Amino acid sequence: MTERELLGEYKLVLGMEIHLHLKTKTKMFCRDSADIYEAEPNTHVCPVCLGLPGALPVPNKDAVRMTQLLGLAVKSSLNKDSRFDRKHYFYPDLPKGYQISQYKQPLCVGGFLKLDSGTTIEIERIHLEEDTAKSFHELGNTLIDFNKSDMPLAEIVTGPSFRNIADAVEFSKKIQDIARYLGISDVDMEKGQMRLEANISIRTAEMEEKGILPSYKVEIKNINSFRFMEKAVRAEIVRQKKLLDKGEAPVQENRGFDENSGKTVSQREKEEAHDYRYFPEPDIPPMHFDENYVADIKSSLTELPDERKARLVDEMGLNKQVAAFLSSGTNINIYEKFADLTDNKHDPVKIGNLLMNRKELWSMEVSDIESIIKTSEDKITDEDSIKSVVEKVLADNPDAVEAVKAGKTATFEFLVGQVMRETSGKADSTIARKLITDLIGR
Ligand SMILES: [Zn+2]
Repeated sequence: MTERELLGEYKLVLGMEIHLHLKTKTKMFCRDSADIYEAEPNTHVCPVCLGLPGALPVPNKDAVRMTQLLGLAVKSSLNKDSRFDRKHYFYPDLPKGYQISQYKQPLCVGGFLKLDSGTTIEIERIHLEEDTAKSFHELGNTLIDFNKSDMPLAEIVTGPSFRNIADAVEFSKKIQDIARYLGISDVDMEKGQMRLEANISIRTAEMEEKGILPSYKVEIKNINSFRFMEKAVRAEIVRQKKLLDKGEAPVQENRGFDENSGKTVSQREKEEAHDYRYFPEPDIPPMHFDENYVADIKSSLTELPDERKARLVDEMGLNKQVAAFLSSGTNINIYEKFADLTDNKHDPVKIGNLLMNRKELWSMEVSDIESIIKTSEDKITDEDSIKSVVEKVLADNPDAVEAVKAGKTATFEFLVGQVMRETSGKADSTIARKLITDLIGR
């Protein structure tokens, strides 16, 4: 069934929360290496990230700056004064009993991102927090790995701006690409470096027209693939529609998606902000950012993927597909080669196509790519030019022509060789062969 059919007369209201592991050298509030992805459990730990009493957190400046860079990329305003807050909840993988996060004064406020359709998605905030540890359930026991505890996590929160799943996926992919492009996260969803949460509710067309939001939302956490997200939201649409059709109101809660049953299951009733008993983190002084600091970050923000794509199409004449390839966050190294080559006066359209279609060039030095371009540019592929050479060779070698007519294959190769010699090896030999055959009338 299509999404529209699933919804029937209802309309979807969807908001996203996107978590990104920032690519810092050390963790958020301690000095452990943040390169945890291949590590044995509990090898990147210290009193701070184990939550031992008396350990003092020290914020990671790089993580702060990366979050602000991301904010500027999506047109957020940076708070001049920002601070960390304690968010209290009990969970085995949260040893302190609270998470250091941001509440009242996040690093970035507001912002937006435009989808390819032109739809604008409003961003509410981007804040910085520490990740939790990870628990495993094995043979009736729960094991905890603290490597992930205190990893720097930027969280992008959108408004309830999405009206369909495809837009939410496009938005998330754009954020993923921007993060790669800025070099602030590796955003590998399989490694948990990017995780999604979807806030889902449905409403009537009349409510949509009047701009009335539903009184509840259901949050699906820890979504680690776009395919998973689509399935989970669809399952939630079906479940909520059934309830509303019966005249019941869905409960505000967190639910998890069970891939086996294809349904969502209740995890816990969602806390309101006051349940978390937020208060300013007393061990970390408030942060203040002056104008020079902000100007410095702004100056490091270059052209963004969508801006680059538009420029490649509008100013350099590339087609959209090649422009998208060159401006993707995954292909920054390839774009740099493109920029060098076009600076050296090579034709952008030709270079763009060449780079997209020939994988072997991606790891090559620019100078080596240039010699390949030179060889291919030198090649004579114009049929008329080759034809005049072939005619000359045939006129100069009447005996050979007769021999070929009599069926001597070796002599045919001699004529091809003569054409190649006349053109210093530059003639396209396939075209030369065809022309010799045609002109001799074999
Ligand atoms: Zn640590």
